[in-house]
Amino acid sequence: MKSIPITPLPNPAATTEQGLGCHAGKDELQKAAASAGKSQVLEQYAQDYPKGPHDQPQSMCPAFGSLRVGLRMRRTATIMSGSACCVYGLTFTSHFYGARRSVGYVPFNSETLVTGKLFEDIREAVHREADPDKLDAIVIINLCVPTASGVPLQLLPKQINGVRIIGIDVPGFGVPTHAEAKDVLAGAMLRYAREEAMAGPVAQPRQARAGLPTISLLGEMFPADPVIVGQMIAPMGLSIGATVPTREWRELYSALDCTAVAAIHPFYTASVREFQAAGRPVVGSAPVGIDGTHDWLGAIGQACGIAADKIDLARNQALGAMRGLLAQARIKGRITLSGYEGSELLVARLLIECGAEVPYVGSACPATPWNAHDAAWLQSKGVHVQFRASLEQDIAAVREFKPQLAIGTTPVVQAAKEACIPSLYFTNLISARPLMGAAGVGSLIQVVGAAIGNQARFDAMKDFFGSVGAGDEAGVWQEQPVMHPEFKADMRRMAEKKRKKAKAEEMGS
Ligand code: SF4
Repeated sequence: MKSIPITPLPNPAATTEQGLGCHAGKDELQKAAASAGKSQVLEQYAQDYPKGPHDQPQSMCPAFGSLRVGLRMRRTATIMSGSACCVYGLTFTSHFYGARRSVGYVPFNSETLVTGKLFEDIREAVHREADPDKLDAIVIINLCVPTASGVPLQLLPKQINGVRIIGIDVPGFGVPTHAEAKDVLAGAMLRYAREEAMAGPVAQPRQARAGLPTISLLGEMFPADPVIVGQMIAPMGLSIGATVPTREWRELYSALDCTAVAAIHPFYTASVREFQAAGRPVVGSAPVGIDGTHDWLGAIGQACGIAADKIDLARNQALGAMRGLLAQARIKGRITLSGYEGSELLVARLLIECGAEVPYVGSACPATPWNAHDAAWLQSKGVHVQFRASLEQDIAAVREFKPQLAIGTTPVVQAAKEACIPSLYFTNLISARPLMGAAGVGSLIQVVGAAIGNQARFDAMKDFFGSVGAGDEAGVWQEQPVMHPEFKADMRRMAEKKRKKAKAEEMGS
Protein backbone atom coordinates (compact mmCIF):
# COMPACT_ATOMS: atom_id res chain seq x y z
CA MET A 1 0.00 0.00 0.00
CA LYS A 2 1.25 3.47 -0.83
CA SER A 3 1.50 5.77 2.17
CA ILE A 4 0.73 9.44 1.73
CA PRO A 5 3.33 11.79 3.22
CA ILE A 6 1.88 14.37 5.58
CA THR A 7 2.89 18.02 5.03
CA PRO A 8 2.23 20.01 8.23
CA LEU A 9 0.54 23.36 7.65
CA PRO A 10 2.48 26.44 8.69
CA ASN A 11 -0.29 28.00 10.77
CA PRO A 12 -3.38 25.89 11.25
CA ALA A 13 -4.22 27.03 14.78
CA ALA A 14 -4.90 30.59 13.64
CA THR A 15 -7.86 29.48 11.59
CA THR A 16 -9.52 26.94 13.83
CA GLU A 17 -11.06 29.66 15.95
CA GLN A 18 -14.82 29.79 15.61
CA GLY A 19 -16.58 32.43 13.56
CA LEU A 20 -13.78 33.64 11.33
CA GLY A 21 -14.86 34.59 7.84
CA CYS A 22 -15.77 37.52 5.64
CA HIS A 23 -18.35 38.64 8.21
CA ALA A 24 -15.79 38.88 11.04
CA GLY A 25 -12.15 38.38 11.83
CA LYS A 26 -10.75 39.63 8.52
CA ASP A 27 -7.72 41.13 10.25
CA GLU A 28 -6.98 37.90 12.12
CA LEU A 29 -7.18 35.90 8.90
CA GLN A 30 -4.89 38.36 7.17
CA LYS A 31 -2.31 38.11 9.96
CA ALA A 32 -2.61 34.34 10.02
CA ALA A 33 -2.08 34.11 6.26
CA ALA A 34 0.98 36.34 6.45
CA SER A 35 2.53 34.23 9.18
CA ALA A 36 1.64 31.07 7.24
CA GLY A 37 3.94 32.08 4.40
CA LYS A 38 1.35 33.71 2.13
CA SER A 39 2.74 37.26 2.48
CA GLN A 40 4.10 37.27 -1.05
CA VAL A 41 0.73 36.34 -2.55
CA LEU A 42 -1.05 38.91 -0.39
CA GLU A 43 1.45 41.63 -1.28
CA GLN A 44 0.96 40.91 -4.98
CA TYR A 45 -2.82 41.12 -4.52
CA ALA A 46 -2.47 44.39 -2.59
CA GLN A 47 -0.48 45.78 -5.50
CA ASP A 48 -2.73 44.41 -8.23
CA TYR A 49 -6.04 45.23 -6.57
CA PRO A 50 -5.48 48.43 -4.59
CA LYS A 51 -8.05 49.11 -1.91
CA GLY A 52 -9.51 52.38 -0.70
CA PRO A 53 -11.16 54.66 -0.18
CA HIS A 54 -13.47 51.79 0.73
CA ASP A 55 -11.76 48.52 1.64
CA GLN A 56 -14.24 45.84 0.76
CA PRO A 57 -17.09 46.58 -1.60
CA GLN A 58 -20.28 44.86 -0.46
CA SER A 59 -20.61 42.29 -3.19
CA MET A 60 -20.67 38.51 -3.30
CA CYS A 61 -17.81 36.28 -2.13
CA PRO A 62 -14.84 37.20 -4.36
CA ALA A 63 -14.00 33.56 -5.02
CA PHE A 64 -17.11 33.37 -7.19
CA GLY A 65 -15.20 35.20 -9.91
CA SER A 66 -12.50 32.53 -10.11
CA LEU A 67 -15.02 29.74 -9.80
CA ARG A 68 -17.07 31.14 -12.67
CA VAL A 69 -14.05 31.47 -14.94
CA GLY A 70 -13.08 27.85 -14.21
CA LEU A 71 -16.59 26.51 -14.67
CA ARG A 72 -17.03 28.20 -18.02
CA MET A 73 -13.97 26.51 -19.52
CA ARG A 74 -14.28 23.32 -21.51
CA ARG A 75 -12.31 20.32 -20.29
CA THR A 76 -11.53 22.03 -16.99
CA ALA A 77 -12.41 20.79 -13.50
CA THR A 78 -12.73 23.28 -10.66
CA ILE A 79 -12.22 22.17 -7.09
CA MET A 80 -12.61 24.31 -3.99
CA SER A 81 -11.05 23.99 -0.61
CA GLY A 82 -12.72 25.98 2.14
CA SER A 83 -15.37 26.06 4.84
CA ALA A 84 -18.52 24.14 3.98
CA CYS A 85 -20.72 27.23 4.38
CA CYS A 86 -18.60 29.19 1.87
CA VAL A 87 -18.61 26.32 -0.62
CA TYR A 88 -22.35 25.90 -0.21
CA GLY A 89 -22.90 29.58 -1.05
CA LEU A 90 -20.51 29.47 -3.98
CA THR A 91 -21.96 26.32 -5.55
CA PHE A 92 -25.45 27.71 -5.07
CA THR A 93 -24.51 30.94 -6.86
CA SER A 94 -22.69 29.14 -9.65
CA HIS A 95 -25.70 26.92 -10.38
CA PHE A 96 -28.00 29.91 -10.13
CA TYR A 97 -25.93 31.40 -12.94
CA GLY A 98 -26.27 28.21 -14.99
CA ALA A 99 -22.91 26.48 -14.38
CA ARG A 100 -24.24 23.11 -15.65
CA ARG A 101 -21.06 21.55 -14.29
CA SER A 102 -20.10 19.84 -11.03
CA VAL A 103 -18.06 21.85 -8.54
CA GLY A 104 -15.38 19.80 -6.79
CA TYR A 105 -14.93 20.15 -3.05
CA VAL A 106 -12.28 18.87 -0.66
CA PRO A 107 -13.81 19.23 2.81
CA PHE A 108 -11.80 19.66 6.00
CA ASN A 109 -12.22 19.69 9.73
CA SER A 110 -10.04 20.99 12.56
CA GLU A 111 -8.09 17.75 12.60
CA THR A 112 -7.28 17.57 8.89
CA LEU A 113 -6.43 21.26 8.97
CA VAL A 114 -4.15 21.01 12.01
CA THR A 115 -2.36 17.85 10.90
CA GLY A 116 -1.88 19.00 7.33
CA LYS A 117 -3.99 16.12 6.07
CA LEU A 118 -6.10 18.65 4.13
CA PHE A 119 -3.26 19.29 1.71
CA GLU A 120 -2.81 15.54 1.25
CA ASP A 121 -6.55 15.21 0.61
CA ILE A 122 -6.30 17.93 -2.03
CA ARG A 123 -3.34 16.18 -3.63
CA GLU A 124 -5.22 12.91 -3.65
CA ALA A 125 -8.30 14.56 -5.18
CA VAL A 126 -6.20 16.15 -7.91
CA HIS A 127 -4.51 12.84 -8.76
CA ARG A 128 -7.87 11.10 -8.90
CA GLU A 129 -9.37 13.72 -11.20
CA ALA A 130 -6.43 14.10 -13.58
CA ASP A 131 -7.74 12.15 -16.55
CA PRO A 132 -6.18 13.50 -19.78
CA ASP A 133 -9.01 12.02 -21.86
CA LYS A 134 -11.44 14.31 -20.11
CA LEU A 135 -9.46 17.28 -18.90
CA ASP A 136 -6.90 19.86 -20.00
CA ALA A 137 -6.65 21.51 -16.60
CA ILE A 138 -7.70 21.29 -12.97
CA VAL A 139 -8.18 24.48 -10.99
CA ILE A 140 -7.90 24.36 -7.19
CA ILE A 141 -9.13 27.38 -5.28
CA ASN A 142 -8.08 27.98 -1.68
CA LEU A 143 -10.82 29.98 0.05
CA CYS A 144 -10.28 32.12 3.18
CA VAL A 145 -9.50 29.52 5.86
CA PRO A 146 -7.13 27.29 3.85
CA THR A 147 -5.32 30.42 2.58
CA ALA A 148 -4.98 31.77 6.12
CA SER A 149 -3.65 28.45 7.37
CA GLY A 150 -1.13 28.28 4.57
CA VAL A 151 -2.36 25.25 2.59
CA PRO A 152 0.56 25.15 0.11
CA LEU A 153 -1.11 24.69 -3.27
CA GLN A 154 2.18 25.72 -4.89
CA LEU A 155 3.57 22.34 -3.82
CA LEU A 156 1.09 20.47 -6.02
CA PRO A 157 2.62 18.98 -9.17
CA LYS A 158 2.44 21.37 -12.15
CA GLN A 159 0.86 18.67 -14.23
CA ILE A 160 -0.35 15.12 -13.78
CA ASN A 161 -0.60 12.83 -16.83
CA GLY A 162 -0.53 15.97 -18.99
CA VAL A 163 -3.38 17.64 -17.08
CA ARG A 164 -2.31 21.08 -15.93
CA ILE A 165 -2.78 21.85 -12.23
CA ILE A 166 -3.50 25.48 -11.35
CA GLY A 167 -3.65 26.23 -7.63
CA ILE A 168 -4.72 29.73 -6.56
CA ASP A 169 -5.46 31.46 -3.27
CA VAL A 170 -8.60 33.59 -3.49
CA PRO A 171 -9.31 34.85 0.01
CA GLY A 172 -11.93 37.51 0.64
CA PHE A 173 -9.36 39.32 2.77
CA GLY A 174 -6.93 39.66 -0.14
CA VAL A 175 -9.03 39.98 -3.29
CA PRO A 176 -11.61 42.77 -2.96
CA THR A 177 -14.22 41.84 -5.59
CA HIS A 178 -15.38 38.85 -7.60
CA ALA A 179 -14.44 40.81 -10.70
CA GLU A 180 -10.79 40.88 -9.66
CA ALA A 181 -10.94 37.20 -8.68
CA LYS A 182 -11.64 36.47 -12.36
CA ASP A 183 -8.30 38.07 -13.06
CA VAL A 184 -6.55 35.95 -10.42
CA LEU A 185 -7.44 32.78 -12.33
CA ALA A 186 -7.19 34.26 -15.84
CA GLY A 187 -3.74 35.65 -14.98
CA ALA A 188 -2.56 32.33 -13.50
CA MET A 189 -3.70 30.48 -16.63
CA LEU A 190 -2.11 32.99 -18.99
CA ARG A 191 1.16 32.68 -17.11
CA TYR A 192 1.06 28.89 -17.37
CA ALA A 193 0.21 29.03 -21.08
CA ARG A 194 2.92 31.63 -21.73
CA GLU A 195 5.54 29.42 -20.09
CA GLU A 196 4.32 26.47 -22.17
CA ALA A 197 4.53 28.52 -25.38
CA MET A 198 8.05 29.63 -24.49
CA ALA A 199 9.10 26.03 -23.85
CA GLY A 200 7.98 24.64 -27.20
CA PRO A 201 5.17 24.20 -29.75
CA VAL A 202 1.62 24.40 -28.41
CA ALA A 203 -1.83 23.42 -29.72
CA GLN A 204 -3.32 25.37 -32.64
CA PRO A 205 -6.62 27.21 -32.16
CA ARG A 206 -9.68 25.04 -32.89
CA GLN A 207 -10.78 27.36 -35.71
CA ALA A 208 -8.35 28.37 -38.42
CA ARG A 209 -7.39 32.04 -38.22
CA ALA A 210 -7.84 34.51 -41.07
CA GLY A 211 -4.17 35.39 -41.13
CA LEU A 212 -4.85 39.00 -40.12
CA PRO A 213 -3.21 40.59 -37.08
CA THR A 214 -5.50 40.00 -34.09
CA ILE A 215 -6.70 41.98 -31.08
CA SER A 216 -7.30 39.97 -27.92
CA LEU A 217 -10.14 41.22 -25.75
CA LEU A 218 -9.99 41.30 -21.95
CA GLY A 219 -13.30 40.95 -20.13
CA GLU A 220 -16.51 38.94 -20.18
CA MET A 221 -18.73 40.64 -22.71
CA PHE A 222 -22.13 40.15 -24.27
CA PRO A 223 -21.49 37.56 -27.03
CA ALA A 224 -22.38 39.96 -29.86
CA ASP A 225 -19.85 42.59 -28.74
CA PRO A 226 -16.67 40.85 -29.99
CA VAL A 227 -18.39 40.34 -33.36
CA ILE A 228 -19.38 44.02 -33.52
CA VAL A 229 -15.87 45.13 -32.56
CA GLY A 230 -14.50 42.80 -35.24
CA GLN A 231 -16.57 44.62 -37.87
CA MET A 232 -15.32 47.97 -36.59
CA ILE A 233 -11.64 47.09 -36.90
CA ALA A 234 -11.93 45.22 -40.21
CA PRO A 235 -11.19 48.36 -42.32
CA MET A 236 -7.82 48.58 -40.54
CA GLY A 237 -6.99 45.03 -41.66
CA LEU A 238 -7.32 43.73 -38.08
CA SER A 239 -9.45 40.96 -36.65
CA ILE A 240 -10.65 39.90 -33.21
CA GLY A 241 -8.70 37.12 -31.59
CA ALA A 242 -9.52 35.35 -28.34
CA THR A 243 -11.45 36.82 -25.44
CA VAL A 244 -9.92 36.36 -21.98
CA PRO A 245 -11.18 34.70 -19.75
CA THR A 246 -11.16 32.03 -22.43
CA ARG A 247 -13.58 29.13 -22.85
CA GLU A 248 -10.85 26.63 -23.64
CA TRP A 249 -7.20 26.10 -22.73
CA ARG A 250 -5.81 26.35 -26.26
CA GLU A 251 -7.47 29.77 -26.69
CA LEU A 252 -4.96 31.05 -24.14
CA TYR A 253 -2.19 30.54 -26.70
CA SER A 254 -4.12 32.43 -29.40
CA ALA A 255 -4.87 35.19 -26.89
CA LEU A 256 -1.15 35.58 -26.22
CA ASP A 257 -0.37 35.39 -29.93
CA CYS A 258 -2.04 38.73 -30.69
CA THR A 259 -0.81 42.06 -32.03
CA ALA A 260 -2.43 44.11 -29.27
CA VAL A 261 -4.74 43.65 -26.30
CA ALA A 262 -7.92 45.62 -25.64
CA ALA A 263 -8.50 45.84 -21.88
CA ILE A 264 -12.24 46.38 -22.27
CA HIS A 265 -12.74 45.57 -18.59
CA PRO A 266 -10.11 47.52 -16.71
CA PHE A 267 -9.36 45.32 -13.69
CA TYR A 268 -7.39 42.45 -15.31
CA THR A 269 -4.08 43.55 -13.85
CA ALA A 270 -2.44 40.12 -13.53
CA SER A 271 -3.57 39.19 -17.06
CA VAL A 272 -2.19 42.46 -18.43
CA ARG A 273 1.13 41.63 -16.75
CA GLU A 274 1.26 38.37 -18.70
CA PHE A 275 0.42 40.07 -21.99
CA GLN A 276 3.07 42.69 -21.37
CA ALA A 277 5.58 39.97 -20.50
CA ALA A 278 4.73 38.48 -23.89
CA GLY A 279 5.55 41.89 -25.44
CA ARG A 280 1.98 42.82 -26.38
CA PRO A 281 0.79 46.46 -26.13
CA VAL A 282 -2.39 47.03 -24.11
CA VAL A 283 -5.07 49.61 -24.89
CA GLY A 284 -7.72 50.71 -22.35
CA SER A 285 -11.35 51.91 -22.71
CA ALA A 286 -13.69 50.52 -25.42
CA PRO A 287 -15.52 51.50 -28.60
CA VAL A 288 -18.66 52.85 -26.91
CA GLY A 289 -20.46 55.95 -28.17
CA ILE A 290 -19.07 58.48 -30.65
CA ASP A 291 -16.13 59.85 -28.64
CA GLY A 292 -15.27 56.46 -27.15
CA THR A 293 -15.26 54.71 -30.52
CA HIS A 294 -13.31 57.50 -32.20
CA ASP A 295 -10.58 57.45 -29.53
CA TRP A 296 -10.47 53.68 -29.13
CA LEU A 297 -10.11 52.98 -32.86
CA GLY A 298 -7.29 55.53 -32.96
CA ALA A 299 -5.51 53.93 -29.98
CA ILE A 300 -5.86 50.40 -31.37
CA GLY A 301 -4.72 51.49 -34.81
CA GLN A 302 -1.64 53.19 -33.36
CA ALA A 303 -0.81 50.22 -31.14
CA CYS A 304 -0.85 48.01 -34.26
CA GLY A 305 1.06 50.48 -36.46
CA ILE A 306 -1.90 51.11 -38.83
CA ALA A 307 -1.72 54.06 -41.24
CA ALA A 308 -3.84 57.12 -40.41
CA ASP A 309 -6.01 56.82 -43.54
CA LYS A 310 -7.09 53.30 -42.58
CA ILE A 311 -7.88 54.42 -39.04
CA ASP A 312 -10.05 57.19 -40.49
CA LEU A 313 -11.78 54.67 -42.75
CA ALA A 314 -12.66 52.51 -39.74
CA ARG A 315 -13.83 55.56 -37.81
CA ASN A 316 -16.06 56.78 -40.65
CA GLN A 317 -17.69 53.40 -41.04
CA ALA A 318 -18.38 52.89 -37.32
CA LEU A 319 -19.36 56.43 -36.44
CA GLY A 320 -21.69 57.01 -39.40
CA ALA A 321 -24.15 54.31 -38.27
CA MET A 322 -23.99 55.51 -34.68
CA ARG A 323 -24.64 59.14 -35.58
CA GLY A 324 -27.65 58.09 -37.62
CA LEU A 325 -29.15 56.24 -34.66
CA LEU A 326 -28.45 59.04 -32.21
CA ALA A 327 -30.19 61.52 -34.51
CA GLN A 328 -33.36 59.42 -34.37
CA ALA A 329 -33.67 58.60 -30.67
CA ARG A 330 -32.37 60.02 -27.40
CA ILE A 331 -32.59 59.22 -23.70
CA LYS A 332 -34.30 61.94 -21.68
CA GLY A 333 -33.75 61.87 -17.94
CA ARG A 334 -31.31 61.79 -15.03
CA ILE A 335 -29.67 58.44 -14.27
CA THR A 336 -27.42 57.28 -11.43
CA LEU A 337 -25.32 54.24 -12.16
CA SER A 338 -23.47 51.77 -9.96
CA GLY A 339 -22.19 48.22 -10.26
CA TYR A 340 -19.39 45.74 -9.66
CA GLU A 341 -18.75 44.47 -13.19
CA GLY A 342 -16.02 46.94 -14.14
CA SER A 343 -17.90 48.22 -17.20
CA GLU A 344 -19.79 50.95 -15.29
CA LEU A 345 -17.75 53.82 -16.71
CA LEU A 346 -18.27 52.59 -20.27
CA VAL A 347 -22.05 52.37 -19.76
CA ALA A 348 -22.08 55.85 -18.20
CA ARG A 349 -20.25 57.24 -21.25
CA LEU A 350 -22.76 55.69 -23.59
CA LEU A 351 -25.71 56.93 -21.53
CA ILE A 352 -24.38 60.49 -21.69
CA GLU A 353 -23.81 60.30 -25.43
CA CYS A 354 -27.36 59.01 -25.80
CA GLY A 355 -28.61 62.17 -24.09
CA ALA A 356 -28.94 61.14 -20.44
CA GLU A 357 -27.84 63.31 -17.55
CA VAL A 358 -25.55 61.14 -15.37
CA PRO A 359 -24.43 62.89 -12.18
CA TYR A 360 -22.92 59.82 -10.46
CA VAL A 361 -21.22 56.59 -11.44
CA GLY A 362 -19.96 54.19 -8.78
CA SER A 363 -17.83 51.12 -9.43
CA ALA A 364 -16.71 48.49 -6.93
CA CYS A 365 -13.56 48.15 -9.04
CA PRO A 366 -10.46 50.32 -8.61
CA ALA A 367 -9.02 53.07 -10.78
CA THR A 368 -6.49 51.54 -13.20
CA PRO A 369 -4.58 52.82 -16.24
CA TRP A 370 -7.21 51.09 -18.41
CA ASN A 371 -10.17 53.13 -17.16
CA ALA A 372 -8.26 56.41 -16.66
CA HIS A 373 -9.36 57.71 -20.07
CA ASP A 374 -13.04 56.98 -19.34
CA ALA A 375 -12.82 58.53 -15.87
CA ALA A 376 -11.27 61.71 -17.32
CA TRP A 377 -13.95 61.92 -20.03
CA LEU A 378 -16.75 61.50 -17.49
CA GLN A 379 -15.21 64.01 -15.09
CA SER A 380 -14.95 66.53 -17.91
CA LYS A 381 -18.74 66.19 -18.25
CA GLY A 382 -19.22 66.93 -14.53
CA VAL A 383 -19.86 63.32 -13.47
CA HIS A 384 -18.83 62.24 -9.96
CA VAL A 385 -16.85 59.03 -10.54
CA GLN A 386 -16.52 56.90 -7.42
CA PHE A 387 -14.09 53.99 -7.58
CA ARG A 388 -14.35 51.28 -4.91
CA ALA A 389 -17.80 52.70 -4.22
CA SER A 390 -19.61 51.46 -1.13
CA LEU A 391 -23.29 50.59 -1.05
CA GLU A 392 -23.83 53.61 1.20
CA GLN A 393 -22.28 55.92 -1.40
CA ASP A 394 -24.38 54.43 -4.19
CA ILE A 395 -27.61 54.79 -2.20
CA ALA A 396 -26.67 58.31 -1.03
CA ALA A 397 -26.26 59.27 -4.71
CA VAL A 398 -29.76 58.02 -5.49
CA ARG A 399 -31.15 60.03 -2.57
CA GLU A 400 -29.22 63.16 -3.48
CA PHE A 401 -29.76 63.24 -7.22
CA LYS A 402 -33.33 61.85 -7.26
CA PRO A 403 -32.87 60.31 -10.72
CA GLN A 404 -35.59 59.25 -13.14
CA LEU A 405 -33.77 55.91 -13.28
CA ALA A 406 -31.32 54.20 -10.93
CA ILE A 407 -29.15 51.51 -12.48
CA GLY A 408 -27.37 49.47 -9.84
CA THR A 409 -26.76 46.34 -7.82
CA THR A 410 -29.61 44.49 -6.08
CA PRO A 411 -29.63 46.53 -2.83
CA VAL A 412 -29.37 49.84 -4.73
CA VAL A 413 -32.28 48.86 -6.95
CA GLN A 414 -34.26 47.80 -3.89
CA ALA A 415 -33.65 51.15 -2.18
CA ALA A 416 -34.60 53.03 -5.35
CA LYS A 417 -37.80 51.05 -5.81
CA GLU A 418 -38.77 51.76 -2.21
CA ALA A 419 -38.33 55.42 -3.02
CA CYS A 420 -40.65 54.98 -6.04
CA ILE A 421 -37.80 55.42 -8.55
CA PRO A 422 -37.71 53.12 -11.62
CA SER A 423 -34.56 51.03 -11.56
CA LEU A 424 -32.64 48.41 -13.51
CA TYR A 425 -30.24 45.71 -12.32
CA PHE A 426 -26.88 46.33 -13.88
CA THR A 427 -25.85 42.67 -14.12
CA ASN A 428 -29.06 41.19 -15.50
CA LEU A 429 -30.35 44.01 -17.66
CA ILE A 430 -27.40 46.13 -18.77
CA SER A 431 -24.51 43.63 -18.94
CA ALA A 432 -26.74 41.17 -20.77
CA ARG A 433 -26.97 43.43 -23.84
CA PRO A 434 -24.57 44.71 -26.47
CA LEU A 435 -22.69 47.83 -25.51
CA MET A 436 -20.40 48.45 -28.47
CA GLY A 437 -21.06 50.28 -31.71
CA ALA A 438 -24.47 51.14 -33.12
CA ALA A 439 -26.01 48.00 -31.59
CA GLY A 440 -25.02 49.25 -28.12
CA VAL A 441 -26.60 52.64 -28.76
CA GLY A 442 -29.86 51.14 -30.05
CA SER A 443 -30.17 48.60 -27.27
CA LEU A 444 -29.39 51.00 -24.42
CA ILE A 445 -31.79 53.69 -25.65
CA GLN A 446 -34.55 51.10 -25.86
CA VAL A 447 -34.10 49.47 -22.43
CA VAL A 448 -33.50 52.73 -20.56
CA GLY A 449 -36.40 54.51 -22.28
CA ALA A 450 -38.78 51.67 -21.36
CA ALA A 451 -37.61 51.70 -17.72
CA ILE A 452 -37.97 55.48 -17.35
CA GLY A 453 -41.42 55.19 -18.90
CA ASN A 454 -42.46 53.00 -15.96
CA GLN A 455 -42.73 55.91 -13.53
CA ALA A 456 -46.54 56.00 -13.80
CA ARG A 457 -46.73 52.35 -12.70
CA PHE A 458 -44.53 53.09 -9.69
CA ASP A 459 -46.74 56.04 -8.75
CA ALA A 460 -49.89 53.91 -9.05
CA MET A 461 -48.36 51.22 -6.80
CA LYS A 462 -47.27 53.81 -4.27
CA ASP A 463 -50.79 55.29 -4.20
CA PHE A 464 -52.29 51.86 -3.72
CA PHE A 465 -49.98 50.56 -0.98
CA GLY A 466 -49.28 53.86 0.80
CA SER A 467 -46.90 53.27 3.72
CA VAL A 468 -47.91 49.61 4.19
CA GLY A 469 -44.83 47.51 4.80
CA ALA A 470 -42.53 50.50 5.05
CA GLY A 471 -40.27 51.46 7.98
CA ASP A 472 -41.52 50.09 11.32
CA GLU A 473 -44.33 48.23 9.58
CA ALA A 474 -42.00 46.11 7.44
CA GLY A 475 -42.16 42.33 7.88
CA VAL A 476 -44.96 39.81 8.37
CA TRP A 477 -47.60 40.79 10.91
CA GLN A 478 -50.43 38.58 12.18
CA GLU A 479 -52.32 41.61 13.43
CA GLN A 480 -52.30 45.29 12.65
CA PRO A 481 -48.99 46.70 13.92
CA VAL A 482 -49.25 48.84 17.06
CA MET A 483 -46.85 51.76 17.15
CA HIS A 484 -45.08 52.70 20.36
CA PRO A 485 -43.86 56.27 19.96
CA GLU A 486 -43.07 56.44 23.70
CA PHE A 487 -40.44 53.67 23.30
CA LYS A 488 -38.84 55.58 20.49
CA ALA A 489 -38.76 58.77 22.56
CA ASP A 490 -37.13 56.83 25.46
CA MET A 491 -34.51 55.32 23.17
CA ARG A 492 -33.76 58.70 21.65
CA ARG A 493 -33.32 60.25 25.13
CA MET A 494 -30.98 57.44 26.21
CA ALA A 495 -28.90 57.70 23.03
CA GLU A 496 -28.61 61.47 23.44
CA LYS A 497 -27.53 61.06 27.11
CA LYS A 498 -24.90 58.54 26.07
CA ARG A 499 -23.62 60.80 23.35
CA LYS A 500 -23.33 63.77 25.73
CA LYS A 501 -21.54 61.63 28.33
CA ALA A 502 -19.05 60.39 25.75
CA LYS A 503 -18.41 63.94 24.58
CA ALA A 504 -17.88 65.18 28.17
CA GLU A 505 -15.42 62.34 28.80
CA GLU A 506 -13.60 63.14 25.60
CA MET A 507 -13.23 66.79 26.57
CA GLY A 508 -12.16 65.88 30.12
CA SER A 509 -9.49 63.46 28.99
S1 SF4 B 1 -14.44 32.26 1.18
FE1 SF4 B 1 -15.88 33.87 0.62
S2 SF4 B 1 -17.74 33.41 1.83
FE2 SF4 B 1 -16.03 32.27 2.72
S3 SF4 B 1 -15.25 33.58 4.39
FE3 SF4 B 1 -14.04 34.00 2.54
S4 SF4 B 1 -15.05 35.75 1.53
FE4 SF4 B 1 -16.49 34.88 3.00
